[in-house]
Amino acid sequence: INKSRVTVVGSGNWGSVAAKLIASNTLKLADFHDEVRMWVYEEVLPSGDKLSEVINQTNENVKYLPGIKLGNNVVAVPDLEHAVRDANMLVFVTPHQFMEGICKRISGKIREDVEAISLIKGMEVKREGPCMISSLITEHLGVNCCVLMGANIANEIAVEKFSEATVGYKENREIAEKWVRLFNTPYFMVSAVQDVAGVELCGTLKNVVALAAGFVDGLEMGNNTKAAIMRIGLRRNEGLFQAAVLILGGRNRKCAEAFARNGGKRSFDELEADMLQGQKLQGVSTAKEVYEVLSHRGWLELFPLFATVHEICIGSLPPTSIVEYSQS
Ligand code: NAD
Ligand code: 13P
Repeated sequence: INKSRVTVVGSGNWGSVAAKLIASNTLKLADFHDEVRMWVYEEVLPSGDKLSEVINQTNENVKYLPGIKLGNNVVAVPDLEHAVRDANMLVFVTPHQFMEGICKRISGKIREDVEAISLIKGMEVKREGPCMISSLITEHLGVNCCVLMGANIANEIAVEKFSEATVGYKENREIAEKWVRLFNTPYFMVSAVQDVAGVELCGTLKNVVALAAGFVDGLEMGNNTKAAIMRIGLRRNEGLFQAAVLILGGRNRKCAEAFARNGGKRSFDELEADMLQGQKLQGVSTAKEVYEVLSHRGWLELFPLFATVHEICIGSLPPTSIVEYSQS
């Protein structure tokens, strides 16, 4: 049989966990090559060593997922073109702001039979309108792109606590099932639905709602208020929000809590740098992107939760507005 070759493009917190999940399965599945390449955005660690070399020596991503063995069949590759060249299954999992650049760099340099999947929460806003990351991949690379999203905090999946996720696909059910087999493990239950946009939008907008939850936590308003903000927000926006959203425990909620605790005096950029050790917040830029789309279409009043979150993030409203808007 023609065995599939998988490359994971990205090696942050979730990227490393994705590589671990996949690598445990390629060893078992006869139609996949064992080796999983993982593209590493190279950096030099405080020790003076290169991250990719340390990953290959220790089998751990010591910076973004310390303490977790990835599997000996994961190979860290710092050269992007080399990482993707032989693969027919590409898993994209970087912070969304880097994806356009990555697509430009590998365009024309991948196999013709590539199937892609995006684990990335976020969107790009262009003059023509919003572009979800799976569409960006399809546009730049000319490949079909599924998505995989869920209530998935990487560090919990890394230690094999049970969770589940959904693959969204456009037409080809067979490809979706192949992705399901590649990701599914006893502690990570994956199913497929024929709805890329719904899965991707829910995952992306969840990060904005997580900021709202964090603001309420930082203001020490308590659980009832947090639930009320979520419920009112979701009711008003019910057309967009079909799925349960994950708000607890993630980085967006945590940084938003710190932001509100400081009364908005420390910017998100500062908090990200201080609190996340190189990991990236997606919610703040997503809130801006969503705001631009809503503003362009004249829909800001229809989606006040999203608008308010963005205005708090940029300092034009105080964090307390997250409660005040809901009371109006
Ligand atoms: P991360 O925030 O942990 O890591 C940041 C990554 O970006 C690092 O690998 C770093 O090397 C890389 N990077 C820094 N500068 C770069 C540049 N200029 N070009 C390219 N890469 C650069 O990343 P993550 O947690 O793997 O998140 C990736 C995506 O997965 C995001 O869209 C996120 O929303 C989503 N996601 C994350 C989790 C989670 O729990 N971490 C869960 C589900 C989905
Ligand atoms: P944070 O980026 O807020 O940690 O959330 C990760 C995520 O998307 C979990 O589904």
